[in-house]
Amino acid sequence: MPLYHTDDQAMLADTVTGFIADEGSIKNQLRRWRDENCQDGFGHELWRRFAEMGLTGMLVAEADGGLGMGHIEAGIVLEQIGRNLTPSPFLTTAVMATTALAGGSDEVRGRWLPGIVAGETVAAIAVDEGAKHHPERITCRAEKAGNGFRLSGAKDFVVHGASADVLIVAARTSGSDSDATGITLFAVPKDASGVTHGSVRLVDSSMASHVKFDAVELDGGTVIGDVDGGRELLGRVLAAGRVGAAAEQAGVAGGAMDRTVDYLKQRKQFGKLIGEFQALQHRAAHLYSELEIARAAVIKAQQLLDANGDGAVSERAQLMVSVAKAKAGKVAGLAVREGVQMHGGIGMTDEYDIGLYMKRDRALAEFMGDAFYHTQRVAELSGY
Ligand SMILES: Cc1cc2nc3c(=O)[nH]c(=O)nc-3n(C[C@H](O)[C@H](O)[C@H](O)COP(=O)(O)OP(=O)(O)OC[C@H]3O[C@@H](n4cnc5c(N)ncnc54)[C@H](O)[C@@H]3O)c2cc1C
Repeated sequence: MPLYHTDDQAMLADTVTGFIADEGSIKNQLRRWRDENCQDGFGHELWRRFAEMGLTGMLVAEADGGLGMGHIEAGIVLEQIGRNLTPSPFLTTAVMATTALAGGSDEVRGRWLPGIVAGETVAAIAVDEGAKHHPERITCRAEKAGNGFRLSGAKDFVVHGASADVLIVAARTSGSDSDATGITLFAVPKDASGVTHGSVRLVDSSMASHVKFDAVELDGGTVIGDVDGGRELLGRVLAAGRVGAAAEQAGVAGGAMDRTVDYLKQRKQFGKLIGEFQALQHRAAHLYSELEIARAAVIKAQQLLDANGDGAVSERAQLMVSVAKAKAGKVAGLAVREGVQMHGGIGMTDEYDIGLYMKRDRALAEFMGDAFYHTQRVAELSGY
């Protein structure tokens, strides 16, 4: 399959590029919410605008009121979110939570998906239990109690956690901490008694929370998919989040690179535009080539995820998702470092946006596993 967009996908890209560059711009969104010290870290009005454009329901099946599109289309949106550093719950809610909920009963889908499609509901993904991504080990426990479960434990760095209406929680319902089986996913409502949040502002000005579950009573209607058999569904959610984060990182890299190349064409030093110096041209060309490789890796992973109509993640897709997250992470890191370097001293000032790209890249790098985690995973999946 060619590693570029079809005509329909290119049309979608045209539409969302203008929309996000305009309404989701750094000035209108990131700087505004940061400077107002907004405790959500994103704008609900823009989320509703996303819904009006159909974007919140892109990955939701048509039978559930969505557009039934795939990861390539969601990635088109995420790349523009990355380019404009748009603070948005799109990745956690429209990509990851919808993937989880798709594996749920009519009841659980009916409870949460209409609100997501309408742009009224925000969801957060509560998987990690520590500063680094390590979903192989889950200690949060949900024990059978009456007709439902009693959830206890803690989750860390839950992006948008405190402002989410529902938390998608991966908990252990049997077995020991590092077992592959014994995991169940729950849709825990915001107002469930015993859920508390310690909110933190991340380096990129987004909000996350450290969530504590203190004997939270959950009825059977909160279970998503099979009790004890949630590892496979969790794998789908993680794959969706990882490839989505990789697409957003490619957008961050592209935005940082374009600003840097523009600067090289404007800034004069020693009587010349600095972009006329071959040393800087070589650095810009290197970055361009690396970004093209990252984009190709991302689109290949998206194609492999979309290839299985039933949503199952093939071994090859798992491998390519980790290749994409590792490569996009390394390239975005290169792009923001080169950007700040080539802007010289002004790259360190708040007046210029290039430093904001560096901050966003740092938080996205950690989200759903950094380049070290995914490089290791590529080695393991390849049998090394
Ligand atoms: C979504 C998300 C967003 C986050 N945002 C923020 C944020 O905004 N601000 C913040 O402060 N934190 C944030 N964090 C947490 C942050 O990523 C971690 O706290 C941080 O990476 C921990 O840094 P560390 O140096 O302690 O450990 P690590 O990042 O694990 O780094 C340890 C380093 O030591 C190396 N190392 C480890 N063991 C050895 C060894 N035996 N020999 C040699 N080298 C070794 C590793 O390769 C690595 O380079 C975020 C986390 C997530 C999941």
